[in-house]
Amino acid sequence: MNVHEFQAKQLLAQHGVAVPAGEMCDNPESARTAAEKLIASGHSRVVVKSQIHAGGRGKGVFKSGLQGGVKVCSNPEEVFVNARAMLGQTLVTKQTGPEGRVVNKLLIEAASSIKKEFYLAVLLDRAVSRPIVMASTEGGMDIEEVAARTPEKIVKESIDPAVGMMPYQARKLAAALGLKGELIAAGAKLTLGVYRTWWELDATLVEINPLCLVEAGGKESLIALDGKIGFDDNALYRHKDIQAMRDLNEEAPLEIEASNYQLNYIKLDGNIACLVNGAGLAMATMDIIQHFGGSPANFLDVGGGASEEQVAAAFKIIMQDPNVKGILVNIFGGIMDCNVIATGIVAAVRETGLNLPLVVRLEGNNVVAGQKTLAESGLTLITGDSMADAARKVVKAVTA
Ligand code: ADP
Ligand code: MG
Repeated sequence: MNVHEFQAKQLLAQHGVAVPAGEMCDNPESARTAAEKLIASGHSRVVVKSQIHAGGRGKGVFKSGLQGGVKVCSNPEEVFVNARAMLGQTLVTKQTGPEGRVVNKLLIEAASSIKKEFYLAVLLDRAVSRPIVMASTEGGMDIEEVAARTPEKIVKESIDPAVGMMPYQARKLAAALGLKGELIAAGAKLTLGVYRTWWELDATLVEINPLCLVEAGGKESLIALDGKIGFDDNALYRHKDIQAMRDLNEEAPLEIEASNYQLNYIKLDGNIACLVNGAGLAMATMDIIQHFGGSPANFLDVGGGASEEQVAAAFKIIMQDPNVKGILVNIFGGIMDCNVIATGIVAAVRETGLNLPLVVRLEGNNVVAGQKTLAESGLTLITGDSMADAARKVVKAVTA
């Protein structure tokens, strides 16, 4: 699960990370009021920031033609005008894809006077099964580009999860960023706060891009000007407050419906829908479709102990994707009873009046009963003897 920047900043602030003063607004009037309050408390400029679950907003372009999803304004009226121009409009950034995302919320926050932008992130280093903290002097840019072009500009600290991030590691990173004097201690404190946010909230990623050296009243300090947090869905059960931050507007409708049935579904761009049991087999099924020249429309794992209702729901979900031209059911029943799958499919096909090619490969637990159910249903379907055979047949059916 992901959250918006304004939510990420609330969570970071709770862990002692400095963030700008600001508030979330969903209409131009409240944006103006928020700006008036910030200016009254001594800030000279205010930033209007589009809240979508994607980065690259600063350089993004609205479909309306407006340039930039992050705008620095010098008075409340300008905030009002920009808020009105952004809300309800679709923002296209490098990360949203060409379809863009509708902006329903804004973060109105104090503008900082930036002297330098850095990058800071905590994530899991899967190669060594440890958390890793990464920092770079190349802040505000695409970190993937920095990694590709100037990897030496990214410094890393591997963390022993048993003891957590040590203060000396945080100071080392702060020094590597070129911070001097008191700013080393401030940078170390901020970095430890970011690490604690990652650890205590069961995050998969906490990214601050940019982390900024700013100046106010002749004094320099460090502050997180952007914040992105991704959470481990398997640990969300112990974070009710984070669950409450979920924004369904940011999730694909079919994925939401799938999660209501405890199905793991991810929509993709291809035209062959797949219904599979087990995440590994689902991945392999997508690979083999590609191998034979096809393109999967989704990833779908119905799990090991799916009920007929879940299978029927899964079937209906994959069929709601208008790009789908054919369906491949690939079941290797270990715990899964093939007849449950077959019964679920027959029910869903009857209900929806399927008229697309359907290729089924069933194998394993109670397969004979499953095949009998399919055969006696009177449905027109193509059977595959093996996974390869089924994949070849479905690719042929959609390209015919
Ligand atoms: P994104 O990464 O989606 O483009 P950011 O939050 O990083 O969005 O904002 C883009 C840029 O806008 C930042 O790199 C920074 O230069 C500037 N910016 C963002 N927030 C502020 C702020 N509060 N004060 C001043 N500049 C800001
Ligand atoms: Mg950013």
